Amino acid sequence: MTDLQQPYFDIIVVGAGNAALCAALAARERGVSVVVLEKAPASEQGGNCPYTGGGFRFVHNGIGDLRSLLPDLTDDEAGRIEMAPYTSDDFRNHLTTVTHGDTRTDLMNTLIAQSRPTIDWMTAQGVRWDIYSRLNAIVGAPSVIPNGVGLTAWESGPGLINMLTTSCRRAGISVLYETEMSGLTQDDSGVVVGVVARDNDETYRIRSKAVILACGGFEANAEMRGKHIGPGWELAKVRGSRHNTGDGHRAAMAIGAQPIGQWDGCHGTPIDIDAPATGDIQVTDQMPRRSYTLGISVNLKGKRFVDEGEGFAEQTFVSMGQAILRQENGIAIQIFDSKARPHLEGRYGGSRKFEADTITQLAEQIGVDAATLAATMDAYNEQAHEGEYHPRELDGRSTNNLKPPKSNWAIRIDKPPLTAFTVTGGITYTYGGLKIDTNSRVLDSGDLPIGGLYAAGEIVGGIFYHNSLRAAGLMHGAVFGKIAGEHAARI
Ligand SMILES: Cc1cc2nc3c(=O)[nH]c(=O)nc-3n(C[C@H](O)[C@H](O)[C@H](O)COP(=O)(O)OP(=O)(O)OC[C@H]3O[C@@H](n4cnc5c(N)ncnc54)[C@H](O)[C@@H]3O)c2cc1C
Repeated sequence: MTDLQQPYFDIIVVGAGNAALCAALAARERGVSVVVLEKAPASEQGGNCPYTGGGFRFVHNGIGDLRSLLPDLTDDEAGRIEMAPYTSDDFRNHLTTVTHGDTRTDLMNTLIAQSRPTIDWMTAQGVRWDIYSRLNAIVGAPSVIPNGVGLTAWESGPGLINMLTTSCRRAGISVLYETEMSGLTQDDSGVVVGVVARDNDETYRIRSKAVILACGGFEANAEMRGKHIGPGWELAKVRGSRHNTGDGHRAAMAIGAQPIGQWDGCHGTPIDIDAPATGDIQVTDQMPRRSYTLGISVNLKGKRFVDEGEGFAEQTFVSMGQAILRQENGIAIQIFDSKARPHLEGRYGGSRKFEADTITQLAEQIGVDAATLAATMDAYNEQAHEGEYHPRELDGRSTNNLKPPKSNWAIRIDKPPLTAFTVTGGITYTYGGLKIDTNSRVLDSGDLPIGGLYAAGEIVGGIFYHNSLRAAGLMHGAVFGKIAGEHAARI
């Protein structure tokens, strides 16, 4: 194995997504030399970031406060935007609620306190911002920023990666594409002093003073999904990058890093059976199938297996994705009648669908035993109600005595034609990862920092449990990436 002694890099950053590039810029700002290793070719750089809308959630004082970040927002546009301040308490309450209180308090406090300063710092690094409601504002409708999401990166996730990469180039940071970190090297006292890297030609060692792992989760690794998240998950379609295969988790744990967080948890969703096996930026956003609240979902045996109406799809789609993957072949069929059809999400328009006037005909088309499917439908309709769907209200129309129940929108499925869509589970990203301290240092099993080793972004465990908070993933990646770069540069 070759030792790449020259040029010497003070800091090696693994990955070239949001967290990594923030780490690289923060380190370089302190005058040290930095190299970024990216496993993917340049065209696929940035892991899951390009798949996102680029939303960042941070503490702010409302639209007046944000105008300094949106220099081209006109007075007229600003006047039409309703945007309440988003306080530290709001952020704390939202993150605590979605994670059922399991999120690590120290990391949460750092994330919240550093959210706005990090946005200001990113702006100074060359990141431009946009506002979700700008389009509404332009056409004249008052708009409300949903759910406290502050701003989005200009041209969303792809724009974010472009801006950060340009800033890195300007700062003199080298990005080596198609170069995969396959291990960490240590000195005799256990301090991390570089990586083993692999490119198309050879495997070699690169030496450094510190290594920052920002190479994403393990969602694109079928074996790790099956092992950690559970049986069925090896079948999941990957909504984002094919390159996030848990390499950083494994390399760090091989030298004693402490795993933490909900390793059996992940963000997922019901997804079209014809979705590509791994993310395709052109279509990923069109693939989720979340109108299941307005019908029933059955498995390949023709049986219901889940309460489709437990809550709004926004609250239940992760657990629905999980429930589907527990079924035979990880497949389910969503069935609707003509009353539900007008309410289905527009993206169902791109799906292969089955249509029939009777349940027997439908069963033949979808390849499910007709008698079982008819019995399932009869049992459901017996308990269900007459009426219309009101998808934006929890209507409380539930089944009385059905297993599993349907708690809302239990309206009879009896107005042909019946329509069916085949779905499976898609994984967005994983929750389990490495334990870090508030300086982004990776900790060992005794909670002591492993010298020279840092982590940021999706590879960090202990932030999301049970569910994730919209637009907080990019924010925590940037906060802990920046902290990692600053701290590592001081070594
Ligand atoms: C469809 C979709 C929608 C999402 N929506 C949102 C959203 O709205 N808001 C939000 O906050 N989050 C969202 N997320 C999650 C968000 O994408 C992640 O939280 C974020 O991208 C994680 O950033 P990161 O920098 O840690 O990793 P990534 O951005 O995934 O980058 C990891 C990088 O490491 C590289 N890499 C992997 N292994 C190696 C290796 N061995 N050597 C070198 N390089 C390696 C990868 O190629 C990649 O470039 C979404 C994800 C998906 C898939």
